[in-house]
Amino acid sequence: MDINKVNKVANILSDKSQKIAIITHVNPDGDAIGSSLGLFNFLLQSGYLNTSVITPNDYASFLKWMPGNDHIIIASKNYEIASKNIIEADIIFCLDFNDPQRTDILEKLLKKSKGKTILIDHHPQPVDGFNYTFSYVDASSTAEIIFKFLQSIDKNNINKNIAACLYAGIITDTGSFSYGCNNPETFMISAELVKKGINPENVNRLVYNTYSVNRIKLLGYCLSERLTVINEYNTAYICLTEKDLERFNHQEGDTEGIVNYALSIRNIDLAALFIEKKDSVKISFRSLGNIDVNYFARKYFNGGGHVKAAGGNYYDTISKTIEYFKSVLAEFSKNNLTITEKLKP
Ligand code: 5GP
Ligand code: MN
Repeated sequence: MDINKVNKVANILSDKSQKIAIITHVNPDGDAIGSSLGLFNFLLQSGYLNTSVITPNDYASFLKWMPGNDHIIIASKNYEIASKNIIEADIIFCLDFNDPQRTDILEKLLKKSKGKTILIDHHPQPVDGFNYTFSYVDASSTAEIIFKFLQSIDKNNINKNIAACLYAGIITDTGSFSYGCNNPETFMISAELVKKGINPENVNRLVYNTYSVNRIKLLGYCLSERLTVINEYNTAYICLTEKDLERFNHQEGDTEGIVNYALSIRNIDLAALFIEKKDSVKISFRSLGNIDVNYFARKYFNGGGHVKAAGGNYYDTISKTIEYFKSVLAEFSKNNLTITEKLKP
């Protein structure tokens, strides 16, 4: 953590009556919500009473237990308040994204606002234009960086509620410490959060053991009916049509995590999940070893993300998208697919 920069931010935060907006990316995940609410609870209890959290759209119900959740303004539902809070903000914290385009309907509000922007994020290749940038690609999650940031500002002010939100951010971005967590610091910070009095078993249950019957059946359907393996490229993919989603009464967040099952097959190094939308297909990519799906998503699918977890969109039918995927996979594999490596602990 760049202490000089933290001090500069602490300086601009000195007037507690300022209006602060915390914003995050479209389709916010556990890290987006956890890091935003961790920061929100910290600011609120430090006396910044004009603070709000704004998401572009709604998010999964398994994230709605976090302390402070009821204060979140969902712009797609409450556009006027969201717009007012961003445009009038003195300070805007931008969490878990590094390009304003990722904020969807918030992007133009962000442009309009005179507020100072503070980016805190762990995705590669941040764009310029934020007033202060805290970009750490080696961090497991934005939540981890927020912890360090808060510790530098006022380490005595991190309470159990804040810790619960940040812990949720870390476990969701690492699949409960199974990827993106080779840095010992992730575990040290997690231990610090546990010391604040949270119950990690309960947080895990709140996030992972609250499946609806429809969601678990959708998962079963994906695995038994919708999974395709391409042995030649050590690749597996799952595709879901709008009809499939309707059949299982799809709710926001129901498809989260499904792509990881495709990646858990022996000898599979690249996994994809295709979800049919009205005018496009939303895709999630996951990989192992040094297969760079951030590059893959950026180059072929108007997307981005991390080396081993990325997403994108393709503006065609689902069958054409899969056809295209197979064709670019052949091209990509020439230079970028590694043979499954022999794992060493
Ligand atoms: P997911 O597959 O879970 O939606 O996203 C995996 C990762 O890729 C997350 O870090 C997410 O922020 C990023 N990501 C997903 N979709 C997009 C996209 O369309 N553009 C960019 N730049 N990143 C994305
Ligand atoms: Mn993240």
